Amino acid sequence: MKDTRNLPKDVLEKWDDQYVWHPFTPHSVYRDEHPLTVVAGEGHYLIDADGERYLDAVGSIWCNLFGHRRDELDQAVREQLDHIAHSTLLGNTNDRPVILAKRLLEWAPDNLGKVFYSDNGSTSVEIAMKMALQFWQQQGDESQRRRTKFMGLANAYSGDTIGAVSIGGIDLFHSRFGPMIFETVRGPSPVTYHRPEGMSRRETEEKFVADFDKVIDEYGEELAAVVIEPGMQGAGGMVTYPDGFLKHAARKIRDAGSLLIVDEVAMGMGRSGQMFACQREGVDPDFLCVAKGLTGGYVPVAATLTTNRIYEAFLGPPEEGRTFFHGHTYTGNALGCAAGLATLDIFENENILDEVSRKESLLASRLEPLWDHPHVGDIRQYGLASGVELMADPERREAFDGARRIGMQVCTAARDKGVFLRPLGDVIVFMPPLTITDDEIDHLVAAVEYGIDKVLQ
Ligand SMILES: *Cc1c(COP(=O)(O)O)cnc(C)c1O
Repeated sequence: MKDTRNLPKDVLEKWDDQYVWHPFTPHSVYRDEHPLTVVAGEGHYLIDADGERYLDAVGSIWCNLFGHRRDELDQAVREQLDHIAHSTLLGNTNDRPVILAKRLLEWAPDNLGKVFYSDNGSTSVEIAMKMALQFWQQQGDESQRRRTKFMGLANAYSGDTIGAVSIGGIDLFHSRFGPMIFETVRGPSPVTYHRPEGMSRRETEEKFVADFDKVIDEYGEELAAVVIEPGMQGAGGMVTYPDGFLKHAARKIRDAGSLLIVDEVAMGMGRSGQMFACQREGVDPDFLCVAKGLTGGYVPVAATLTTNRIYEAFLGPPEEGRTFFHGHTYTGNALGCAAGLATLDIFENENILDEVSRKESLLASRLEPLWDHPHVGDIRQYGLASGVELMADPERREAFDGARRIGMQVCTAARDKGVFLRPLGDVIVFMPPLTITDDEIDHLVAAVEYGIDKVLQ
């Protein structure tokens, strides 16, 4: 094969424009926003085809935990190649996914006992939903078989496949697909920043919880399950919940006899300072979905963890058809599971979770001065994840005209300081690798301040 390394950047850009259709990308402005052409990575930095280095401040869209080319992860994948890259889990097994399941469950809430693999976050959530539906369909009690509805919150995001889109609640991403998505029960939005005139944040939070309860009271007996992103709604704009909400919701859902699915795709794998965000709230979910960081950001592997109670409802003679008929070609991929095992090793060997908690406070204190910036409306944080919402006029709560793509402009400007960011609208997102250093946190915040000033002075 011809050597395709070290091609000039302009050639790669030309072919990219000619052949590649990018996700979540308006192609009419793509090239003007100076996208990176990454050819390598090293530690917390991405290396562009022109040799420039950029701090990967969104962890390659929230999956990279320990930087690029981490020795332990590289070695685990390389070593696995000396054994086997992949073999099927359909009716068979493989040592890597077996061992990873056992070790994941050691980290997970005690009530969880089984791991079902897939290969991305969307499927990990859809699997939980399909399992919940089938679980209820296989109950002897007829009233339980009426549990066929799913509830998601407004502003939620659980991925881009049809089930995930159906449970999601972000109009910009989801409304277009109305004709092909199934109906769900819509809970309230936890957004408190964009609240009605005259309401305090506190009142908005209380209304959110009361509205949530009302929906459960109305639909509780028909609900197969409720899907919640614990800690923070990520793609919805880094939106936090009132303190104690998940614990309250879990109790309410249990009292209604339904099931709780926690979508930990973004906040799981250490982001909260606990391995899983639901553990930070002391909640035992019926399903826990994990993907993005599960392999340290190396290989697409996802998992849906559930209880033995759910699992046992799928047992019986094969001809009864209680089997869970779902699976993907690459389910439980061995290279990925090897990377997953190395990821857990790093958590164990390096005291990652305590460090995340320390850096959570550090990041908060570094962001604090931004409250005084004339275009910063809100700063939200959960663990080592944060969103800074930019506004045309925070006093009067006026957003920027979306056509100006201010968030994107600010992120592009931060590139001058060697920092790579990707916003959600006008929310600047901080999702750095968990191993980001204190100096890099300072650098990151300074680059964002610089970017805001450059675009908005
Ligand atoms: C990214 C994300 C998903 C979807 O994961 P994919 O791997 O992109 O399919 C689901 N839920 C949450 C909370 C996410 O952040």
